[in-house]
Amino acid sequence: MANLNNKNLKLAIQKQGRLTDETIEFLRKSGLEFESYKQRLFSLCRNFPLEILYVRDDDIPDYVEAGTVDLGILGLNKLNEEKPKVKKLLNLRYGFCSLIIAVPKESEIKDIWGLRNKTIATSYPESSKKFFKKNNIPVEVVRIRGSVEITPALGVAQAIIDLTSTGSTLALNDLRVLSKIYDSESVLIANKEAFINGKKNLLKKLITRFQGVLSAKNYKYVMMNAPEEMLPKIKGIIPYLKSPTITRLSTKGWISIQTVIKEDLFWETIEKLKKIGATGIIVLPIEKMII
Ligand code: AMP
Repeated sequence: MANLNNKNLKLAIQKQGRLTDETIEFLRKSGLEFESYKQRLFSLCRNFPLEILYVRDDDIPDYVEAGTVDLGILGLNKLNEEKPKVKKLLNLRYGFCSLIIAVPKESEIKDIWGLRNKTIATSYPESSKKFFKKNNIPVEVVRIRGSVEITPALGVAQAIIDLTSTGSTLALNDLRVLSKIYDSESVLIANKEAFINGKKNLLKKLITRFQGVLSAKNYKYVMMNAPEEMLPKIKGIIPYLKSPTITRLSTKGWISIQTVIKEDLFWETIEKLKKIGATGIIVLPIEKMII
């Protein structure tokens, strides 16, 4: 096994949990090559001076803050809860979930004001207390480390505050959502000194790779044919399109256009393009996009 080397960048990721597979997938999409992580404490990338350390996600904020590692990938929820002194660099667009307040389905509590003087179980006491303080609602917050969703049935609490993504755990435990506290997703964080130490150039390179994957995820590559006279209108529909690749077709007055379209406006844009006469529209995923 290779040894940890001080000149390499060090990135801590969750060893075993909900974020692990998608984090590994994200790193591989960024072009990083490393051995399978199972049973390992760390992997050394073959094609980039980066060591990936597999740790409990609870430990990631401390490792990054202390400088044991330069970087970490974890849920934004952990940052909101623990407020470590680190720099948030990128939102990674996976691991989406929300911190919510829920009560038993049959509870008489109808809104957050009904929680006055009630007991609330959560693994996120700081986020919870902050929320109730802001809303001026006195409650008792009890910290529970696991299986928060069963505490109302056990009579420990009248409400819970927990993370949810699909809502299936809530449904399984006959709980209903009262309110959302915040949304979360995976984020890349760095030690505060990371940009001023000797590794800053490596760090910049790695971030460019990550941004390439994120931009690619947000865009689709589109090819289409259209009458040449429609080009100004097409440019109006795709406003961020500065200089599309245009090829003249053998049919007189027709051109082929190649460009990128933002994923969130995708269908809307395609409908508009079809309306003004674009045909033969081909859409391709983008692997990487360096802007
Ligand atoms: P876990 O593996 O359960 O410790 O969760 C790791 C991270 O996955 C959490 O800190 C959240 O950022 C994220 N996550 C995404 N969806 C959920 C969910 N439904 N429940 C808990 N965590 C979630």
